Amino acid sequence: MTATLFIVATPIGNLSDITLRALETLKSVAVIACEDKRHARRLLAHYDIRTPLLALHEHNERQAAERLIERLAAGHDVALISDAGTPAVSDPGARAVAAVRAAGFRVVPIPGPNAAIAALSAAGFEGPFCFVGFLPPKVGARRTALEGIKSLPATLVFYEAPHRIVETVADLAAILEPEREIVIARELTKLFEQIERMPLLAAPAWLASDENHRRGEFVLIVSAPPPHEGLDAESERILKLLLAELPVKQAARLAAAITGQPKNDLYARALALRRNSSEGSL
Ligand code: SAM
Repeated sequence: MTATLFIVATPIGNLSDITLRALETLKSVAVIACEDKRHARRLLAHYDIRTPLLALHEHNERQAAERLIERLAAGHDVALISDAGTPAVSDPGARAVAAVRAAGFRVVPIPGPNAAIAALSAAGFEGPFCFVGFLPPKVGARRTALEGIKSLPATLVFYEAPHRIVETVADLAAILEPEREIVIARELTKLFEQIERMPLLAAPAWLASDENHRRGEFVLIVSAPPPHEGLDAESERILKLLLAELPVKQAARLAAAITGQPKNDLYARALALRRNSSEGSL
């Protein structure tokens, strides 16, 4: 049997969110590579796990991976955890996994908590999604990154820390289409968990309205762009004018007759515009 590196997901807040298989694995391996030993000890002590620890973080990942490979070569199974959730998802681990694979050892995931998936599961957005993770911290790079992904036909999933939440949400509202919606998920699985869905344009005011709204760890989920890529600016203008006076169906039918655009596209766009205006975002 080849020795194995197990990639073990651990809780993102609530210590009970850990699988039986994760606990069995963490007990049985020879060593656990972890981001922060003190942090790992709190989790392991809770489950009475005494497996030795080895630090593996973004500053020593290459050397730590070599040490893991030495243990694997000696025939010992090893595990990798991060401070929270799934290793290698906006966390160290990918380079170690690549090195262990290249050395010919098995890598086995033990799935479990992940903040992005937890938030997505409670957001209520359908269809494909794109996990972006953290945007660049510098304002120019952040805005360029947003311009680059703005047109992806997918729900966008971001991570953000409390000290940057206000500026990041302001940029999302300024750069992405105003018809899009956002889910702000904070403190998932913890005492003060909050998951709020609102028009993107309303999000800066929601953050400003209560200092607690700006506290904790955040996942931001933004709905896919509105289905109006097929509409040229003139059709959009005509539809909006008609919509100001008429019910959705009639506005879409007349706009189709005037512009020659497909009625279904105009109807879908009209519905989105009407929904957003009734939620106060237009
Ligand atoms: N590997 C982790 C995972 O699987 O989700 C992510 C680690 S990343 C360094 C930390 C970021 O994940 C936080 O800044 C926040 O954006 C998000 N996050 C982690 N725990 C969270 C929680 N309980 N509630 C909301 N967001 C969380």
